[in-house]
Amino acid sequence: MPVFHAGFDPASPPTRVRFECGARHGLARELDALALARALVLTTPQQRGQGEEIIGNRGDRAVGLFTNATMHTPVEVTQAALAEASRTGADCVIAIGGGSTIGLGKAIALRTDLPQIVLPTTYAGSEATPVLGQTENGVKTTLKSEKVQPEVIIYDAELVATLPVTMTVTSGLNAMAHAVEGLYSQDASRLSSALAMDGIRAFVAGLPGVVAEPGDLASREDTLFGAWLCGTVLAQVGMALHHKLCHTLGGTLNLPHAETHAIILPHATAYNEPCAPAALKPVAELLGSDSAAGGLYDFAERMGAPTALKSLGVAEEDLDRIADLASRSPYPNPRPIERDGIRHLLQGAWEGRRPVEEA
Ligand code: NAD
Repeated sequence: MPVFHAGFDPASPPTRVRFECGARHGLARELDALALARALVLTTPQQRGQGEEIIGNRGDRAVGLFTNATMHTPVEVTQAALAEASRTGADCVIAIGGGSTIGLGKAIALRTDLPQIVLPTTYAGSEATPVLGQTENGVKTTLKSEKVQPEVIIYDAELVATLPVTMTVTSGLNAMAHAVEGLYSQDASRLSSALAMDGIRAFVAGLPGVVAEPGDLASREDTLFGAWLCGTVLAQVGMALHHKLCHTLGGTLNLPHAETHAIILPHATAYNEPCAPAALKPVAELLGSDSAAGGLYDFAERMGAPTALKSLGVAEEDLDRIADLASRSPYPNPRPIERDGIRHLLQGAWEGRRPVEEA
């Protein structure tokens, strides 16, 4: 790949990133470094306990706990959290959770400029990006702004160790999808491709250990490091067919985010592989397979991931509509988007078949 010929800018805003088991206990240091004293802690209802632990550690520097973070960042939830930030006089937010909770912190920062300290507990990678998706009146829109990029990311492997195994696997495949699409993105650079391959490698190394022993912190560290690498790729380059399909499926049929990514990844890869053979060859080699698509399918199946859209409740009759929608205003993609090819891809993903390269 020509390195500087086309020119590239990794666009890395100044974010402080810390990797350490138990780092959540040292949050006071991070607050001191930014001269912050009044944190509003954010979680989902399910992760209230992790928020309470943070508050216990923060003493009087935590002024409130908002536990209603919700998938796809509904604007009415953001408004309720903003009211709580204002009522408590918060000077920063601490988001502890996955993409939903981090999304809420970003939505607050967009409107208030409050600094964000985030402690990711899944592998979705939102913490590493200046991107925010929000939902209003059932319509999801996405924006990109440095205002939403968190100031501090704390990766504490003990926090992700509570993520149930099935979600661990699907969330890991969600992260790997950022990297796979990063490899053949039209904006791919030598840096983004190096990060992408190392991110995929970290999950291939770490996920089997987590599946065998969910509390194994060494494997959790591998996967959390992979999440940062893959999230950084997502921040640097544009995504393609795979993400378009997942956004269409998720938005139209209200499907769960990580599971949808896990199922679609091998099929979108098979569609693109004939037109991006050099970019995807290292993935096939890493997975010991004749193709990247086949290797990703086999890996996902070995990890116990769902492989069929029908298992998420998708009806076969919906596939025509999804193929139509996903073929409209496509993202830049190595292989031209042909509606019939996309319909065929969706059939394979619906049935859960191992994909074969489609030339
Ligand atoms: P999530 O944040 O919705 O979490 C899913 C569920 O798992 C929630 O109930 C949560 O409380 C629970 N959970 C999370 N971590 C846990 C843990 N360690 N232990 C126990 N339970 C835990 O899921 P997600 O897949 O991380 O995020 C999906 C959302 O993030 C979507 O809205 C997606 O659009 C967004 N996202 C945004 C970006 C971006 O760059 N803006 C990137 C990726 C994802």
